[in-house]
Amino acid sequence: MHAIRELLQRAGVLDSHSATAQHPDAPEPDSELFDRSLEIAVRHFQQARGLKADGIVGPLTWRRAREARWRLGDRPLHHDATSPLIGDDVAALQRKLNDLGFDAGRVDGIFGPRTGAAVTEFQLNLSLDPTGVCDETTLEAFANLARAITGGRPEALRESHEWRNGRTGLLGKVVVLDPGHGDEDLGCQGNGVVEADVVVDVAERVERHLAQLGVVVLLTRGRSFHHDRVLDDAARAAFANSVAADAVISLHIDQDASSHASGASAYFYGSSAGSGSEAGRHLAASLLDHICAGTGLPELGCYPRSWDLLRLTRMPSVRVYLGYSSNPDDAALLLSGDFREQLAAGIAAAVAAVFTPASLHA
Ligand SMILES: [Zn+2]
Repeated sequence: MHAIRELLQRAGVLDSHSATAQHPDAPEPDSELFDRSLEIAVRHFQQARGLKADGIVGPLTWRRAREARWRLGDRPLHHDATSPLIGDDVAALQRKLNDLGFDAGRVDGIFGPRTGAAVTEFQLNLSLDPTGVCDETTLEAFANLARAITGGRPEALRESHEWRNGRTGLLGKVVVLDPGHGDEDLGCQGNGVVEADVVVDVAERVERHLAQLGVVVLLTRGRSFHHDRVLDDAARAAFANSVAADAVISLHIDQDASSHASGASAYFYGSSAGSGSEAGRHLAASLLDHICAGTGLPELGCYPRSWDLLRLTRMPSVRVYLGYSSNPDDAALLLSGDFREQLAAGIAAAVAAVFTPASLHA
């Protein structure tokens, strides 16, 4: 417990004061109070890192906490294909490179070849040795670049820029939107949210956005449509296959036993062993980026799953969770038309970004 407390302090989610907080009148160290504050810190950390916020320090939480302790400058950073460097220092480097217009890709905290190429390019631009290793000299060069960082997330901005220029890539694409549940099945319910109703409304809003961009949008179900077949995932997948869709986006709302869980997550076809759909992963990441950038919902991450809808479809398919009905804040947002419109705009922007011709990424 001592070790995890230290890691969380280094990661900035547990300050040394609250970690040892005692009531001033308490004669004895209150170990129960201490455990509570640590558990809450663990939950916050897990939520911020896209882990299941159960307050339990399992192997994954432990690994993430260890990754979070790295600060830029603690160690030289480079691409190592056999055991990639992972940590908050890598994420900080990626953010710096992207902010300056060097393409380090997604800010995922993993030093891959793309981050290495961006470091090399940065070094070439500053007449440094193009080693691809982010060392002390490289960090000094960053520090000396007195350049105002203009807020926001440049990766997202760049994508929306590409979207405007790449609209022709969308014309005639077929996107199947799949509002989860339907008919008798209302999905999850809480704090006034009825999943089946909210997701069909969001789907119709996405449809309007995408139709304007020349995308052919098909919904697996409507608002008050009575189906003569069971609307299970296999049937939805068969529908998408039968219309030769270019992408499938299934919309859901999540729920959790804890009312603290909040945010959006996305799932694509694959297994945790690493095999799976690259295009699905790409679509999932784009959806989450755009949804979270547009709405401020916490980003809980993209994960591979072998659910029927993802497994049986022959095109990139993603199930996206648009917040938690069990969280009062998420639920309040989900009940607002403005928020659903932001969700829809984010989803449409993500689709647009994915279908933008790769040549425009230069
Ligand atoms: Zn659902």
